[in-house]
Amino acid sequence: MSYRTCKTCNKKVTESTGKGYWCARCQKDEESFTLRYVFSAKFSDATDEAWFSIFHEQTEILLGCSADELAKLKSHEETPNFLCQLKKAKWVSFLFRICVSRTEYKNVKRQKINVIDIALVDFVVDTRFLLNEIYAMKD
Ligand SMILES: [Zn+2]
Repeated sequence: MSYRTCKTCNKKVTESTGKGYWCARCQKDEESFTLRYVFSAKFSDATDEAWFSIFHEQTEILLGCSADELAKLKSHEETPNFLCQLKKAKWVSFLFRICVSRTEYKNVKRQKINVIDIALVDFVVDTRFLLNEIYAMKD
């Protein structure tokens, strides 16, 4: 759900042989790291369902907290709070901008869906848009 990254360049870090965490890009040890999300989830609407890959910034919007905050909830034996935070995203309407691509691995073709952008549904704006579309059909 999340991985350790360098605070300077956001690339993945590994535990150093010495003290701290090694960033291969910056070529140095860091004392600490920042967690970044990499998240997959199944989404559905009235037409179908599909698995989406969601990256850091979009997952923060979806779950309403940073990866570091979520890890704290999980590690401090605050499991009810951790689950509560995850459940906040359930049954919430979001608009997704997605990128669909086809990949092939070992002669197996798969569809890959990445979330590019995410936003809460603004029902007032959407209703105005639909009303304008309906009025345009009258003419
Ligand atoms: Zn770095």
